[in-house]
Amino acid sequence: MSDLWQDDAKRDLGETFRRLIASTGPISLMHFMGESNTRYYNEKRAIGGAGAAGGDFITAPEISQMFGELIGLWLADIWIRSGRAQPVHYVELGPGKGTLARDAQRAMKKYGLTPRIHLVETSARMRDLQLSTMPDAIHHGDLSTVPMEGPILLVANEFLDALPVRQLVKTVDGWREIMVGVDGLDKFFETPGRQPMDSAVPEARRDDPPGTVIETSPASATVMFEVAGRLASQGGAALFVDYGYTHGRSGSTLQAVKDHRKIGVFDAPGESDLTAHVDFAQMEQIALSRGARVLGTATQGDWLTALGITERAEALARTAPQHREALMRAKDRLTAPDQMGNLFKVLGLAGPDFPDGAGFTGG
Ligand code: SAH
Repeated sequence: MSDLWQDDAKRDLGETFRRLIASTGPISLMHFMGESNTRYYNEKRAIGGAGAAGGDFITAPEISQMFGELIGLWLADIWIRSGRAQPVHYVELGPGKGTLARDAQRAMKKYGLTPRIHLVETSARMRDLQLSTMPDAIHHGDLSTVPMEGPILLVANEFLDALPVRQLVKTVDGWREIMVGVDGLDKFFETPGRQPMDSAVPEARRDDPPGTVIETSPASATVMFEVAGRLASQGGAALFVDYGYTHGRSGSTLQAVKDHRKIGVFDAPGESDLTAHVDFAQMEQIALSRGARVLGTATQGDWLTALGITERAEALARTAPQHREALMRAKDRLTAPDQMGNLFKVLGLAGPDFPDGAGFTGG
């Protein structure tokens, strides 16, 4: 099989998938998504910037510096109230262009918090971008090499949604994993695998009607398991911001975005951003099971408003009146219910000895 993957960096990923499927049969949707995103983040100019878009999509830290600043403020606040432990580590998962880390660092510094900066990033291209913004950052391929001593202040914005999902479908013969095949016209299509997957489905769901799809993210579950374990053992706090749902749901949430537009999931493997919604209820459950505190899951709109984004926008507008309109537009984009405000959620976690976090009610 190895020669199939030779020179893959140069070969069109769709072509590589077709050859692989022709020789070994359908591949899992999870494999398709994982390989597609690895290629995508290594080669494409994924994330646009404020104003003159560019890239394929835009994220909250690129919309406004207020986003990263308020995250930095939240981290400084909980760190101060927990007793200002040293050493302390800022850890960001999938930091994109490094914009959030830079804005958070600036805000944290104002409150005397100057943690070591650790960026967990797999893409070499993204690492280069991050080093130009955060030259002193230490890069990691995964969490395992992040120091074990001293609390971690961890941030992940639009990270979990990029990790590959597995989809199971109920057929008349029982549960099967959704695979990707190639038809006579060289087009990708979804097809149930041959292997029975009933044991992977929670008992309460096994009798769901044919056609039901269950989507899970084993990679997100693994990340949450590790982060919560570290919060329990070394202390600290974490914020996971992403689009997703807080109550159980069925069906596929997989989508592809290219040039700021939705396209078919199979249309441009390696050239479009494949994402799925995050199951926040499951993330909370995993965190609790590892002994971390769940501070709460709030909508991004409520959370940013509770942290004072309106006042911050006003303050910035007073110093730079020529930017008032742009600042108010950015604030609305981040918080309005019909924009990012409701769809995006903020999950706050902490170590057992850490206090409540600002902006979460209950939890
Ligand atoms: N947080 C940034 C970028 C979001 S895009 C922002 O808000 O702008 C997703 C990021 O996660 C990219 O930097 C991508 O390269 C990185 N990434 C994707 N899969 C990863 C993995 N398995 N491990 C580490 N980083 C990953």
